[in-house]
Amino acid sequence: MKRAVFLDRDGVINRLVYNLETGQYESPYCVKDLVLYPYAARSLIKLQQRGYMLFLVSNQPGYAKGKTTLENIRSIHEEIHHYLTGNGIKFTGYYYCYHHPDGIVPEYALKCRCRKPGAYFLREAEIKFGLDLVNSWFIGDQDTDIFCGQAVQTRTILINNIHSAHKRGRSFPDYQVWDLLSATELLLKQPFK
Ligand SMILES: [Mg+2]
Ligand SMILES: [Zn+2]
Repeated sequence: MKRAVFLDRDGVINRLVYNLETGQYESPYCVKDLVLYPYAARSLIKLQQRGYMLFLVSNQPGYAKGKTTLENIRSIHEEIHHYLTGNGIKFTGYYYCYHHPDGIVPEYALKCRCRKPGAYFLREAEIKFGLDLVNSWFIGDQDTDIFCGQAVQTRTILINNIHSAHKRGRSFPDYQVWDLLSATELLLKQPFK
């Protein structure tokens, strides 16, 4: 059976961006605001070389909330995909949820099944690729990431990104670290169950 690492995107692979309107750090909403962490590619390569399938699992409600366009969201994705591919990294799946229950764009303003902490995408990947979830991992910087992984019995690593501190504190991850590189090194040291 194949093992997977499910990764959150914003605050894990790329920097969070200060939003003047909300006074919070949020997703990048245009390509010029996208900054990947310098250790992201190096970390992902290590996981891939160890045989883990990589999946991105990201909530992107920016369009649903009227903060950006779908074109911008797609361009940011394309930029990330291009960068990763150029560095020899292959994500088996990119799972994005574009919905939000309080959105203002009618087609996307709904309570969906795919928004984290919902584990819809993880179940989909499990079935499609025959994953061994108990020996798989979820890495993210918010409680919702941890809840998502735990809902399907993956192990979990919480990244204590200072800019998302207000989105943590209610979950009990297996491990906590400061960034993706530390998460990767820790993960690769753990024996299989
Ligand atoms: Mg995040
Ligand atoms: Zn959704």
